[in-house]
Amino acid sequence: MGYQDAKEKYENDSKQDNSDDLYCSANGCTNRWSVQMDGKPKCSFHQWFGSKPIDYGSMHLQPNDYSGDPKGWAKRILDRHNTGLEVHALSLKFAKQALKMTVEV
Ligand SMILES: [Zn+2]
Repeated sequence: MGYQDAKEKYENDSKQDNSDDLYCSANGCTNRWSVQMDGKPKCSFHQWFGSKPIDYGSMHLQPNDYSGDPKGWAKRILDRHNTGLEVHALSLKFAKQALKMTVEV
């Protein structure tokens, strides 16, 4: 598929989709949002790296310190994911399920 075809297909898909709500609120960003912390849905890139540095204090998280927490493993996986580190998609899915978060399909 050439660039033009891909572009048209993408635009058609976007029209059929007809739900801007699914997309990151950052200007011009075409990623689907995955995080909503301050009222504006954003993709993880813009949420964590777009405007401000990661502030674990305001997230009420202590990275890699979940001793005694039976779901610590899941939180560590999410921490890795949220800080932009590579996480296996299945691991992330299980972690989100364990924490009863919405699983993206
Ligand atoms: Zn974005």
